[in-house]
Amino acid sequence: MAATVIDGKAVAASVRERVRSEVEGLTGSLGRPPGLATVLVGDDPASAIYVRRKREACEEVGIRSFHHEPDGSIPQDELLGLVAELNHEEEVDGILVQLPLPEQIDTDAVVATLDPDKDVDGLTPTSAGRLARGEPGLVPCTPKGVMELLGSAGVDPAGKEAVIVGRSNLVGRPLFSLLLSANATVTVCHSRTRDLGEVSRRAEILIAAAGRPRLVTAEMIRPGAAVIDVGTNRTEDGLVGDVDFEAAKEVAGAITPVPGGVGPMTIAMLLANTVRAARATVPA
Ligand code: NAP
Repeated sequence: MAATVIDGKAVAASVRERVRSEVEGLTGSLGRPPGLATVLVGDDPASAIYVRRKREACEEVGIRSFHHEPDGSIPQDELLGLVAELNHEEEVDGILVQLPLPEQIDTDAVVATLDPDKDVDGLTPTSAGRLARGEPGLVPCTPKGVMELLGSAGVDPAGKEAVIVGRSNLVGRPLFSLLLSANATVTVCHSRTRDLGEVSRRAEILIAAAGRPRLVTAEMIRPGAAVIDVGTNRTEDGLVGDVDFEAAKEVAGAITPVPGGVGPMTIAMLLANTVRAARATVPA
């Protein structure tokens, strides 16, 4: 039987609706709308498009966005100064510094300067540490979106075998912590894993986040597994994921397409993180 295809666009739309009503309530209790500061350094066209989409998404749900667009030649100490200012700005609940940054900037230093309570991308060492320790905090948007997709498909990770392909700080590692906290038994694979298929066939939940087009074939999937494809690869056939979708959907129980799966979730979870950061500032 063919798998249920998980509709990321529909799930993202329902997250945005949820955020919109939370924003309404929060605007009342804060006496102002929740605020997200976006920092776009230089004029990289792809980054400009991403930031514009994020700001438009904020506007749609009633989050106020504060945009900063310093010149690409900005010295490191000035950029650190801007982040420090935003850390103290009362109307700013979340700060998003669009990556990549220009060569002269030490990205780790910029990220480490962010107030972890405003770190809506979940990238600071403090956010990563909280997540690894199973403590509350802001979680990177794409992994958070993956968990939301599993929930929407009725997949409870508790007690299940979960396998993640990829161990990046942005996707694989945070997902390890999230799935572990949700009581799955988690294995993380990477480029040095000896027999990927042998490990992936154990997975009741399989997450592909390697950035390798169609790395995961149907034979590597346990029948009935929930398969979440994070990969986005531009090929001659257009945008494809890390999973061979057409063949995999005949084996999996539930599966995300690319595009239209994980992709739409990332901005929705950024909005959710901004609301979460704003809620934390409401006096008890
Ligand atoms: P990354 O930093 O390049 O990490 C890729 C990971 O995959 C690494 O851990 C690497 O192992 C592992 N890997 C590579 N080839 C492998 C193979 N043949 N077998 C097993 N593991 C392999 O990438 P990323 O930032 O995590 O992103 C992963 C993918 O997700 C990319 O396609 C990216 O575009 C996509 N993505 C999508 C969204 C979205 O919103 N949809 C968001 C973020 C990322 P090593 O550690 O050993 O090198």
